[in-house]
Amino acid sequence: MTSKEIIAETNRYIMNTYVRQPLALTRGEGCFVYDPEGCEYIDFVSGIAVDALGHCSQELVQAINDQAATLMHVSNLYYTEPQVQLAKILVENSFADKVFFCNSGAEANETAIKLTRQYAEKTHGPGKFEILAMENSFHGRTMATITATGQPKFHAGIGPLVPGIRHIPFNDIKAAEHAISPKTAGVLIEPIQGEGGVITADQNFMLALRDICDRAGSLLIFDEVQTGVGRTGKLFAYEHFEVAPDVMTLAKGLGGGVPLGACLSTEKVAQAFTPGMHGSTLGGNPLVCSVAYVVVEKLLESNGLLSSCQEVGKYFFEKLCDLKSQFECVKEVRGQGLLLGLVVSANGIDIVDTCRKHGFLINCTAGNVLRFVPPLTINNREIDQLCDLLVEIFRGEKGKAIL
Ligand code: PLP
Repeated sequence: MTSKEIIAETNRYIMNTYVRQPLALTRGEGCFVYDPEGCEYIDFVSGIAVDALGHCSQELVQAINDQAATLMHVSNLYYTEPQVQLAKILVENSFADKVFFCNSGAEANETAIKLTRQYAEKTHGPGKFEILAMENSFHGRTMATITATGQPKFHAGIGPLVPGIRHIPFNDIKAAEHAISPKTAGVLIEPIQGEGGVITADQNFMLALRDICDRAGSLLIFDEVQTGVGRTGKLFAYEHFEVAPDVMTLAKGLGGGVPLGACLSTEKVAQAFTPGMHGSTLGGNPLVCSVAYVVVEKLLESNGLLSSCQEVGKYFFEKLCDLKSQFECVKEVRGQGLLLGLVVSANGIDIVDTCRKHGFLINCTAGNVLRFVPPLTINNREIDQLCDLLVEIFRGEKGKAIL
């Protein structure tokens, strides 16, 4: 099919929920993707922080082929080796003792909310059910996770929302102290708000939340769906803060492109779940777990992807800071590792369009924050190419007056 046909038939047959760009993609290789007409794009979106190893990496293709030819799916009524191997490598490299597997970030957060309430009820009795989430956060599209999402624009027309979930301002210690009460079962926070505009939590806020939760007998839940699995240069973003949560959620990069989510917790908390209380038909099946194991293994290799993500991320950050020092319209550089944001005083969507027309896929979030979440395999040369284009755009040399 041609691009035109794919776009026309998508509009004909698929529900209209995405603000899509006029681009169909048929093939990917490393940091490059291609449209049906063979045009090449350097991908700084990577499925929104998903394709950690790049497109069609040999190791992942091999893992998929091998596992698909061996055992693709069986019910969680049975035990499988890929699932336990993945759980083991996650537990051995995190604060957690136990893992629950599901299919997406929203499901992972649903799991976290259910687990937190179960734990509170079992440990403290009824009445301790409230979840405090952050303003400007994003946690998913199911009813509980969209309720937890602290952006009212997502709540329009779908009420009533799930009761017992409240929002407090991000990075405001006083507000957190004031809001927590004996009713609080848990506090949910992204270490870096990704969809909200790449805004990092303050170290002091994270330390304070840990302390406030401990004093109130509430759980601290980190949503690392976007920040986890190497994206920020550490396996998990919480390692930058030296604050460990009680519960953590993962998805996106964990599967490297196959649908997989996970909710991790300490042993004490995990015990709140007993057989029958939670489950998933497809979650953590042998196929996705064998792929995710390769992703995590590649990240942990010495001199592997984690260290290169740190180095390349630092290089990228500095290049973006150069842009800020050169151009009035660049207001701020934010983020960590390869989750970076450039705040511009211009229409971000126009810049995204111009980049695409010149062979670069980037994303814009929160209106005016250009977000860069490329594969962790991106290199300095590709970053230079993008930054050269951004220089031309900011100089007004790329046609449309966007600034
Ligand atoms: N949590 C965070 C921090 C996210 O960024 C996202 C998606 O962007 C989600 C949860 C939802 O993940 P999914 O789209 O896999 O349900």
